[in-house]
Amino acid sequence: MTRGEGACLICGKPLVYEHTMREMTCSICRRKFLGHASCEDGHYVCDECHQKKGIESVMAYCRESRSRNPIRILQEMMEDPYIYMHGPEHHIMVGAALLTAYHNSGGKLDLDAALEEMTARGSQCPGGACGFWGCCGAAVSTGMYLSIVTGATPLTGKTWGQVNEMTARALAAISKWGGPRCCKRTSFTAVREAVIYTKELLGVEMELPETIRCSFSAENRECLRKACPYYPGTPE
Ligand SMILES: [Zn+2]
Ligand SMILES: [Zn+2]
Repeated sequence: MTRGEGACLICGKPLVYEHTMREMTCSICRRKFLGHASCEDGHYVCDECHQKKGIESVMAYCRESRSRNPIRILQEMMEDPYIYMHGPEHHIMVGAALLTAYHNSGGKLDLDAALEEMTARGSQCPGGACGFWGCCGAAVSTGMYLSIVTGATPLTGKTWGQVNEMTARALAAISKWGGPRCCKRTSFTAVREAVIYTKELLGVEMELPETIRCSFSAENRECLRKACPYYPGTPE
């Protein structure tokens, strides 16, 4: 077992991750799931309950945003009081920030429909996929973003390759820093890779900040601090 962030939504106590899954009952909706993580007092909150309120609020933000900078959009979403330090809502937010910035940069897209589809797909990628599947959800979210933009499906040719390359590029960049997991670090890295690949592939140019600075390190007990490229004061 490994102890993680103080993130129990019920009592605030640290979460405990077990290496094998067991049946757990969600403390909010009372449904049963196979899960890895409960708090020290045994509370378990399912992914859907964990992200519901936050996702509604960040989607409303995306629909209003005129920004072409997906890192700024993401940082604004992360400031929402119902978006927690870590959690599977990041698997939706990364793609949503990209879809919004892509749309605002002249990319052809029905943004409302795209955000709805992103929420549906992103919700299917569970928390902890990074360490348990070897496939960080922030990276998967970039693949979902590009799939929505290009209309890729399991049966398409060129776009099938492109969406898999997108996720692969994001994962390769994310893997370089090692763990423990940080949904802020991996989200920033994934978005940056997607901006670069989108320009290469589709010629749509989104904006990136000159340097990406994370304002969440104090909230993250597993922060890599000086070993993280986004830690304030770290040289590029
Ligand atoms: Zn608890
Ligand atoms: Zn629940």
